[in-house]
Amino acid sequence: MKLYISLFLFILGSVVGSFLGCMGYRIPNKIKTTFPPSFCSECNKKLKWYMNIPIVSYIFLGGKCAYCKKPIGFIYFFTEILCAFLFVLNNLLYGFSINFFISTILSCVLIVTIVSDFLYYYISDRVLIISVIAIIVTLYAFTGANEVLKAIINGALMFGIMYAIKLLGNFIFKRESLGDGDIKLMGVISLAIGVMNSFCALFLASVIGLIYSLFISKINKDGIIPFGPFLLIGGMLSIYFSEFFAHIFHVLI
Ligand SMILES: [Zn+2]
Repeated sequence: MKLYISLFLFILGSVVGSFLGCMGYRIPNKIKTTFPPSFCSECNKKLKWYMNIPIVSYIFLGGKCAYCKKPIGFIYFFTEILCAFLFVLNNLLYGFSINFFISTILSCVLIVTIVSDFLYYYISDRVLIISVIAIIVTLYAFTGANEVLKAIINGALMFGIMYAIKLLGNFIFKRESLGDGDIKLMGVISLAIGVMNSFCALFLASVIGLIYSLFISKINKDGIIPFGPFLLIGGMLSIYFSEFFAHIFHVLI
């Protein structure tokens, strides 16, 4: 049974990942999310249904547009596979409990943000608002109104802390230290996982971001690092390893 559920979630995750990757491209480029139907961004030709099957079409077409033979971004193939993998992983770890829904919502935000932040340095407000609604509905369904209220306070608190860090950073470095998108995103992550876990997420994101910047600095000279995906990866790792981090906190404090 578990195998069938995993197979179903893999297919669902790849379809959702394909849609979200597409949103990550369309929203920063101001293209409507519902119209036009899928098209090649190079030659603008409308894609036939069989050119649009998540994961499969990319392999089948050899990573190239069937019309103009220009390469299709590997990032879209990657996000389809990643989304499918995360849907399955979240279910194997948590069944269909609250943690499944929270980690899957963050996974979905991650998929859009990987495309929009890596390619266009853009974190969509619309995506954040939808994720806030999804998180609040999930918390309300599993834990009730009191926990929702606590979560909203957690989100607002983290937003305030991040905003203060930004002001301090701007003052010290005399330049924009943190993007507004990153600050809002940390508010959303804290709404989902609480303030303490968010600090964990921030720490992990900084470590991963630092490793990434060392690795990428040879290629990318403009020095801008899209931080959003790292914050979300940090947030998800904080959920996956919450018991481990809780133990560390317990020992430290
Ligand atoms: Zn084309």
